[in-house]
Amino acid sequence: MRLILLGPPGAGKGTQAQRLIQKHGIPQLSTGDMLRAAVALGTPIGKRAQGLMDAGQLVPDEVVIGIVADRIEEPDAKKGFVLDGFPRTVAQAEALDAMLAEKGLKLDCVIEFKVDEDKLVSRIERRAAETEAAGLPVRKDDNPEVFRRRLEEFRHLTAAVAPYYEAQGVLKSIDGMQPVDDVTTAIEAIIG
Ligand code: AMP
Repeated sequence: MRLILLGPPGAGKGTQAQRLIQKHGIPQLSTGDMLRAAVALGTPIGKRAQGLMDAGQLVPDEVVIGIVADRIEEPDAKKGFVLDGFPRTVAQAEALDAMLAEKGLKLDCVIEFKVDEDKLVSRIERRAAETEAAGLPVRKDDNPEVFRRRLEEFRHLTAAVAPYYEAQGVLKSIDGMQPVDDVTTAIEAIIG
């Protein structure tokens, strides 16, 4: 099964991806997590990405496309994957199509999280507070100012990705404002 979770930052994609990996045993491919790991390790990609990530801006397409191309070659991704946070531009979606076509593979479906974007800022503030309360490090870009920039990047660049997949007939939408368990149920109903 090859799935994409699509939606603005803070929509709950990461939480649902975690549940999907537990239930279906396929890996979560989160470009955000991969980039944060590269930043932590101080790799050349990490150094290139850090300032943009801290500012809530997108990392250049060729950087993330390269990361995903390498990642889907790994053995655990052979049986499928859940992409979370990629593609974020139409160019990334086109590159993914080309990568899969080269292997004779196709996406099963793209699940779009429909959310009330005005409510996301308070959601992200809560996420930061809960993370802090749990004694875990809070993401630098989980503060209202940077978050607003991330939301702008979504509206400006990522919003065009859903129509791209709609035209391919693989887009399914769910209400991402429901309680977490109900979102999971809606996803399971789609993927059967
Ligand atoms: P996320 O964890 O998905 O919210 O991603 C955190 C940050 O990593 C984003 O704000 C971007 O700076 C960068 N990033 C993650 N995925 C991508 C992507 N597919 N394209 C460009 N930048 C990305």
